[in-house]
Amino acid sequence: MVDADALPTQSEKKCIFCGKPPKSKNKEHVVPKWLIGLTGDPKRIWHLGVETSDPNRKLRQFSAQQFQFPACTECNERYSDLEGRTKGFMVRLLEGGDLKASEWDDLLDWFDKVRVGLWLGNMLLNKDWPTPTPNFHIDERIGKKDRCLLVYPNRPEFRGLVMSGASDPVFMHKPSSFILAVNGLIFLNLSSEFLLSKNMGFPFPNEVSYRDERAYIENFSAESEMKTPVLDFPFHKPQVGVFQAILIEAAMNDEKYAALVESEYAASRMIGRHSMKSRICTFEDVGVKFHAPEEIVEKSNIPKNDLRPSSDYYAQLYHYRQYDLDVAKTHFPGNTKFLEFLKQYNLGALEQVGEL
Ligand SMILES: [Zn+2]
Repeated sequence: MVDADALPTQSEKKCIFCGKPPKSKNKEHVVPKWLIGLTGDPKRIWHLGVETSDPNRKLRQFSAQQFQFPACTECNERYSDLEGRTKGFMVRLLEGGDLKASEWDDLLDWFDKVRVGLWLGNMLLNKDWPTPTPNFHIDERIGKKDRCLLVYPNRPEFRGLVMSGASDPVFMHKPSSFILAVNGLIFLNLSSEFLLSKNMGFPFPNEVSYRDERAYIENFSAESEMKTPVLDFPFHKPQVGVFQAILIEAAMNDEKYAALVESEYAASRMIGRHSMKSRICTFEDVGVKFHAPEEIVEKSNIPKNDLRPSSDYYAQLYHYRQYDLDVAKTHFPGNTKFLEFLKQYNLGALEQVGEL
């Protein structure tokens, strides 16, 4: 059951939303109760991660309900409406229904929340790993960076909740991709700075220099046209794939960036005049389409020949990470040894995917 040593000590208690010591203490269920209830017995045991310091890689077990972390009451309540709406979206998608573009935008916010929450939570639970000190919390990361969600069919008879790639050292190092499988659907979520902007025609930096594990960006330009495929990695065709470019607040001080944001191409594709978010974009069947907020985003039919076993949908996350770690090696050659360790770990994770 709960390994007391793995839980946060008093001095480390920070609200996972605002990053400050929790005011009028509360607990946030990073994986919400409604989702646990929707996918099986709420009291079930989860197998969350392994202890890597143990040569026998002992499984660490928690009940689903115990996976909760410090939060301010006020912070927690701020997100309760989003949770309520997301439950409705999830139920509708599982029943085969569609969402409006504005609802996908909302759902992408929720995926940011869960992804960052899992990152912060799993770092507290896995201190034996080389985990970084978190430099942001949930509030600072919702709707702030380019993001997409690819939705795939799961095994039809599957009922349960799977979080894949959200508790390993690769995710601790870069919490920008993970999979959440909810009963019959597999959601692959990606989000990072300038992940999509260049290929979606929005402003991007021409010059990126890498020093001290950080990227420094300058000399912005924009193609003002769509280049497909938008992602540089060949993901399988999804049932629904929604893409959203997000402007970078910090870059708005750059004159060139601010001017490109005002260009006809970019301005006409934002959700609203002062929004930092682009309209939800899809690429399937009908070609490139930016959806007005009230528009329904329709699913694509995956031709039978393109349909894959669910393990392939899981596996592509880890293939993508191998590719992404290789890219990181070219940016940060001084970090090669650590990135190679992550690649080895990632290959191990890929081997386990067949068991999902
Ligand atoms: Zn707080």
